[in-house]
Amino acid sequence: MKNLQDLVRPNIWALKPYSCARDEFKGMKADVYIDANENPYPNGVNRYPDPLQEQLKLAISPMKGVPVENIFLGNGSDEAIDLPFRIFCRPGKDNVVAIAPTYGMYEVCAHVNDVEYRTVSLTPDYELDPDALLGACDENTKIIFICSPNNPTGNSLGREKIERVITAFQGIVIVDEAYSDFSAQRPFRLDLQKYPNLVVLATFSKAWSAAGIRLGMAFASTDIISLFNKVKYPYNVNVLTQKKAMEILGNATLLQRHISMVLEERDTLLKSLAFLPICKKVYPTDANFILVKVTDADGIYKYLVSKGIVVRNRTHVHLCGDCLRITVGTKDENTKLLAALRQYV
Ligand code: PMP
Repeated sequence: MKNLQDLVRPNIWALKPYSCARDEFKGMKADVYIDANENPYPNGVNRYPDPLQEQLKLAISPMKGVPVENIFLGNGSDEAIDLPFRIFCRPGKDNVVAIAPTYGMYEVCAHVNDVEYRTVSLTPDYELDPDALLGACDENTKIIFICSPNNPTGNSLGREKIERVITAFQGIVIVDEAYSDFSAQRPFRLDLQKYPNLVVLATFSKAWSAAGIRLGMAFASTDIISLFNKVKYPYNVNVLTQKKAMEILGNATLLQRHISMVLEERDTLLKSLAFLPICKKVYPTDANFILVKVTDADGIYKYLVSKGIVVRNRTHVHLCGDCLRITVGTKDENTKLLAALRQYV
């Protein structure tokens, strides 16, 4: 990896971050807080949240097996995807490289930040080609994005292939593990110590059943986490989100039960879909969704909508012609989907 300072935008390296009231006074307990121009009358949200979410990170750390100082929390993974562009990429000059197909927000954030977005196709069986990915990089490539398990394909990419990219690339490699709780593969967040240029993303939106609270995580070296903290909005995770996340973390049994139920339903759905005449191919999945190649994605999508069932039509996505992406629902929802698909003519 290059020297971190050589990778970071000079204005960000030199940035003196905003110092909020709760940054300047922390640690000791006080009786009277009249430092932040808040309203003093309690209603549960009259005080600013902890800017660094320390209590929440203490609860997340053992669940994820990542030390507190290696954790960043943000407003969904979306914030953790956008921040690296603002930290590392000089607008109009630098570029990032990503696999195709993959999650669409990497490209959107690149365009918002005026950063060139280069793509390298996965192989036809949705596997990573490390040499092609590395070959697409030049001296202005700051970040490589890898999503595993990948969206919309659902498969985990080869671990050794990802390792090769992380070790060979001189810039930052972001591995998005939004769906890793549905996979038996070893997550990359447990190998942070080995790779100083690695940033791993995770989210409360999938296995943790909390898409509505907008809480995403990034795991990285303390140096990279400090840069995230320097650039983020001072109070980026609100009080209600922090409270609800603590409640969710306190019920690990329920979390595990929901994951098991999704995995059980995923198996049933995989088997049943494979028997349907409209299904040409059911792709292997390590996520909470299944990519299916069908006889006519547009027609079947519209038909399902007419039955009150909404799936994601991915037919126009690279390598996904005539593919639908189906999220694993409850037993009842999956039964309705299968019944509707059996009636399709
Ligand atoms: N990463 C991937 C790969 C995703 O598919 C999604 C959502 N579809 C996200 C991140 C977004 O997560 P969040 O809700 O935390 O912004």
